Amino acid sequence: MNCRLCGSTNLASVVDLGATPPCELFLSAEQVDQPEMTYPLHLRLCTDCLLAQLPPLITPEETFTEYAYFSSYSDSWVRHAKDFVDAQVERIDPKFVVEVASNDGYLLQHVVERGIRCLGIEPSVNVGAAARDKGVPTLTEFLSPRTGQAVREEHGPADLVVANNVYAHIPDVVGFTRGLRALVADDGWVSIEVQHLLTLIEQNQYDTIYHEHFQYYTVASAQKALASGGLSLVDVELVPTHGGSIRLLAQPTENAGEPTQRVADVLAREKAAGLHELAGYAEFARRVAGVRRDLLRFLVDAAARGRSVVGYGAPGKGNTLLNHCGIRSDLMAYTVDRNPYKHGRFTPGTRIPILPPEQIAVDRPDYVLVLPWNLRAELTAQLSYVGEWGGKLVFPIPHLEIVEVKKS
Ligand SMILES: [Zn+2]
Repeated sequence: MNCRLCGSTNLASVVDLGATPPCELFLSAEQVDQPEMTYPLHLRLCTDCLLAQLPPLITPEETFTEYAYFSSYSDSWVRHAKDFVDAQVERIDPKFVVEVASNDGYLLQHVVERGIRCLGIEPSVNVGAAARDKGVPTLTEFLSPRTGQAVREEHGPADLVVANNVYAHIPDVVGFTRGLRALVADDGWVSIEVQHLLTLIEQNQYDTIYHEHFQYYTVASAQKALASGGLSLVDVELVPTHGGSIRLLAQPTENAGEPTQRVADVLAREKAAGLHELAGYAEFARRVAGVRRDLLRFLVDAAARGRSVVGYGAPGKGNTLLNHCGIRSDLMAYTVDRNPYKHGRFTPGTRIPILPPEQIAVDRPDYVLVLPWNLRAELTAQLSYVGEWGGKLVFPIPHLEIVEVKKS
């Protein structure tokens, strides 16, 4: 196995989560009676360039042709996108904005509202169609240097290229970065939001490791990835989405200024946490095993006491957790999700039924295990009705917490 960024063969084990199916391949009722492929889920670190990575065992084409994730189902994510657009319009006053992996238009709809020209590039046919229904011009494509060049020739260079929650999802990180460089004007900006490996490690967010995330970035490794495609990191912001992300602001290398003090500050935090050398990753696997033991102990005990447990949410990361812990419907009867695409389907690997959220109020379970823990504040408010019958919320990460909810 070679590092996909620098080609080195010096890849060291960080954590081995066993073998699981791709986390977005929810099963239909017919598929539950059929075999299912699993793939090893073993995170490794390149000790030369420090890129944490999974081998490319699945292709993005397998995942994204019909994708189940519609960004607009999360209220807080849509608000976050609007705040971002407001800030960027204020900062650089763009005349043309391109978003890569624009999903269902959750972000560009705010650009359209302002009368600014924009284009989404989204590989999923069904998700891109939802964006066009909202009036967001959307091209059904994967970004490559060739696609980037074709868009530039047809629409002109973009003042702002946005790539949120995609920089981990592409196995060809060098080609993708060259694609971004092709899209952006020579004096334009590229803004990338991606999960921060520092918080992943510090907060035990191991369930965000799944096959669709091919690499996991520190600012140090992101700088190298950007440079591979002709971009230079100028500024970085820490943002709270997905439990802790970095917003990387980059410019074409020939026009980029010196990195800001904020870049130096985040690099210093990473270095202090030990993440600029292999030794800093050593404790992580031990803490992951602890999360699994605590959650299983709680679920087995609840089952033994005759208490009912259901899930809330069917996010991709929930499937890493459920598979790694070996949780089946005897320990968690079902989960619910707001996305109607998932209703009547089953979680990959663990085959737990997914129902509409209304089922919780019907069944009044003793415990609701919240799988999208990153939306904790939003979901604690949304699920306050569970307190009406004395039900409690359970958060598995960063460590097991059982929370009483106030009756509203
Ligand atoms: Zn490397």
